[in-house]
Amino acid sequence: PHLAFEIHEQSLSNKVILVTGAGDGIGRTAAITFAQAGAEIILLGKTVNKLEKVHDEILEMGCKQPCILPLDLRGATESDYEGMASTITGQFKRLDGVLFNASVLGNLCPFEQIKASEYEEVMQVNVNSQFLIVKALLPLLRQTALASVAFTTSSVGRSGRAFWGAYSVSKFATEGMMQVLADEHKNSTLRFNCINPGATRTNMRAKAFPAEDPKTLKTADDIMPTYVYLMSDISRGITGQSLDCQFK
Ligand code: NDP
Repeated sequence: PHLAFEIHEQSLSNKVILVTGAGDGIGRTAAITFAQAGAEIILLGKTVNKLEKVHDEILEMGCKQPCILPLDLRGATESDYEGMASTITGQFKRLDGVLFNASVLGNLCPFEQIKASEYEEVMQVNVNSQFLIVKALLPLLRQTALASVAFTTSSVGRSGRAFWGAYSVSKFATEGMMQVLADEHKNSTLRFNCINPGATRTNMRAKAFPAEDPKTLKTADDIMPTYVYLMSDISRGITGQSLDCQFK
């Protein structure tokens, strides 16, 4: 159904949406696109000046003022996320959507050469932080009529691939987390899905494929219809799915 989805100024009006990794790459474009579609955005990310730039860009476009939430997912603890949930509850009194987008690639290498510290970092940022954030935000998400949680997967989260090590494992875990949550909430309107962006022109893609010409790749902007579709009420009832992005 999302194949025919078109983004409108009102697609996400009255919605409050948290985007992780909102300072760069796909997350940055998603935050700006959601704001243009009428949402109030909570910009979560590690590098504050990147978040400030996105904040200013959204304001300059005349969209609703976003809020900045600087947090390093690598080191944040359960109490940091509980604090985050209270801040969001206090400031917005609601939460309609979460886009789990932040991830790190780690090093692509043979499995036995993965350093334990790198494996732990990838799992902490890509998986464990999502567990803690969902746990902290579920009470707030359940209060909203049609809340939507979207995780970001990858083709290596569906089929293991040589040398993609911890990153691949982390994306399988993300698909699993989404399925468990979707099944637990199958009798409610709260929905959980994964998005696979496919090869997209970002820093992460350039790190994984340094010899590739980025101009041959679709941009983050091209894949936004699927992101807005999952955050909008049009996708009500869609849950437990792992969607590939269609592009403009
Ligand atoms: P980028 O590397 O361009 O952006 C990643 C974002 O995550 C940045 O905003 C970064 O913030 C943030 N981030 C990384 N580590 C942390 C941390 N410890 N704490 C908080 N934020 C953090 O990646 P993409 O935009 O390419 O990827 C976005 C998502 O899409 C990822 O989940 C990725 O796995 C997935 N994906 C991407 C594909 C592609 O071709 N690009 C293909 C398939 C999946 P900062 O800049 O401040 O470090």
